[in-house]
Amino acid sequence: MKKVIWWLRRDLRLHDNPALRAAVDRAGEVIPVFIWAPDEDAEWGPGGAQHWWLHQSLKALDQSLRRLDSRLVLRKGGSLTELRSLLQETRATGVFWNRLYEPAAIKRDTEIREALRADGHQAESFNAGLLYEPWTQATLKGDPYRVFTPFWKSCLKGPEPAAPEAAPQAMPTVSSWPDGIELDALDLMPRRDWYRGLGEAWTPGEAAGLARLEQFLDDGLAHYDEKRDYPAVDGVSRLSPYLHFGELSPRTAWQAASARRADSGCERGGEAFVRELGWREFAHHVLFHFPQTPTRPMDQRFEVFPWRDDPGGWLGAWQRGHTGIPIVDAGMRQLWQTGWMHNRVRMIVASFLVKNLRLDWRHGARWFWDTLVDADLASNTMGWQWSAGSGADAAPYFRIFNPVLQGEKFDPDGGYVRAYVPEVRKLPPRFVHKPWAMPAAEQAKLGFEIGVAYPEPLVDLKTSREEALAAFKALPGR
Ligand SMILES: Cc1cc2nc3c(=O)[nH]c(=O)nc-3n(C[C@H](O)[C@H](O)[C@H](O)COP(=O)(O)OP(=O)(O)OC[C@H]3O[C@@H](n4cnc5c(N)ncnc54)[C@H](O)[C@@H]3O)c2cc1C
Repeated sequence: MKKVIWWLRRDLRLHDNPALRAAVDRAGEVIPVFIWAPDEDAEWGPGGAQHWWLHQSLKALDQSLRRLDSRLVLRKGGSLTELRSLLQETRATGVFWNRLYEPAAIKRDTEIREALRADGHQAESFNAGLLYEPWTQATLKGDPYRVFTPFWKSCLKGPEPAAPEAAPQAMPTVSSWPDGIELDALDLMPRRDWYRGLGEAWTPGEAAGLARLEQFLDDGLAHYDEKRDYPAVDGVSRLSPYLHFGELSPRTAWQAASARRADSGCERGGEAFVRELGWREFAHHVLFHFPQTPTRPMDQRFEVFPWRDDPGGWLGAWQRGHTGIPIVDAGMRQLWQTGWMHNRVRMIVASFLVKNLRLDWRHGARWFWDTLVDADLASNTMGWQWSAGSGADAAPYFRIFNPVLQGEKFDPDGGYVRAYVPEVRKLPPRFVHKPWAMPAAEQAKLGFEIGVAYPEPLVDLKTSREEALAAFKALPGR
């Protein structure tokens, strides 16, 4: 009877998994395999927070498979080498997997497909990760899109994404299992215990992702459009890591949200949420067509932008949340403690790094890469290039966020900064976003001293804004 390998990567789920579905439909035996091969993308292998997530996610998936009398075989090494030896050991005839869209993954998977076929094996890939694969959309001239709105219109004009498929009720039995290694042998768990907060904030895995989707649809979707910019409020879905690791199918999220849009009161929230799923699609479209953008500005004029050499500890102060700007520090501490940061605050901290501190956006992208549980090469690159003003559909460089005004607008009673920056907790609302402006007498009354209890801002917001504008105006072509 035909036997195939289901090669899992970032599709760590049983529901709506086309490679699994094809394997179950076409083979009498299916061997689920995950190969840990971080060296195959030395530049953008998973960061620290993602190691933690992956460990939990693989464990959860193995438990789900065992409930169906199957299991996850873990291997470590080169993907092609491991697949070849698995094919030999098990006498399987083919390998099925779901596609990834990062440049290094595309190159590797193409080589593997060709090598396996040359060996006489079946090698087939499927789409589990996107609503619209990057090559399916093009402008009238046949070019890739660089602006979100026409991209998204083009997606919505075409056929709807395929309906998601249910998880199989049963897995075909396997007559003899190949050897695998223990999860701990992948050595994914961080050595230092900084990840404790991640465990308090998150439950990785397919079941938790589906439950979070249901909870968000019930409690959050109706008001998503109104609440999504307020970081103190539970107004967003927090589905990003589940989508990144493929524990939640984007088609499942899309279809469930689209269905709820018909409910009274959910129309606007539903539309706004589906549009955000569209930004995820756009990010993958841009990365696919502009594969250099994780490290090079998309707008080439920015190649000569005069990024500042760190004058001494600015980057470290930003990373640790000690810039003296409460909303920035709250965001950076939320990131460190929970592996995630609210989107509005991501934009604020990024703008502060690249515009007020004028430090290269690539420093910020790297730090996010290591600390976010949802770190995603497409979305992170787009977010950072957008913030720097050099990317697709980027914020115009002259629109520089004022973090105090942003804080006052989107965290009006200071609940968010108070949660993450205890140093300013007792300050009255009118100073919680700008403690340095509090008169000395008032500071004394509260037993608070700026520069002692909490740092002075690293830079003056007005001067640094003007310097950034001057640097931008000096770019060629301005
Ligand atoms: C500097 C910067 C870096 C970022 N890095 C990442 C990253 O590494 N990984 C990541 O998934 N997102 C990134 N984003 C986008 C966005 O901040 C997160 O997707 C969002 O905060 C995740 O929270 P959520 O699931 O509650 O989002 P929701 O608001 O509930 O949105 C639902 C889903 O839509 C997608 N989405 C929403 N906004 C965006 C966006 N702007 N770009 C792409 N997809 C989006 C995400 O998959 C998200 O889970 C970044 C944004 C910025 C400004």
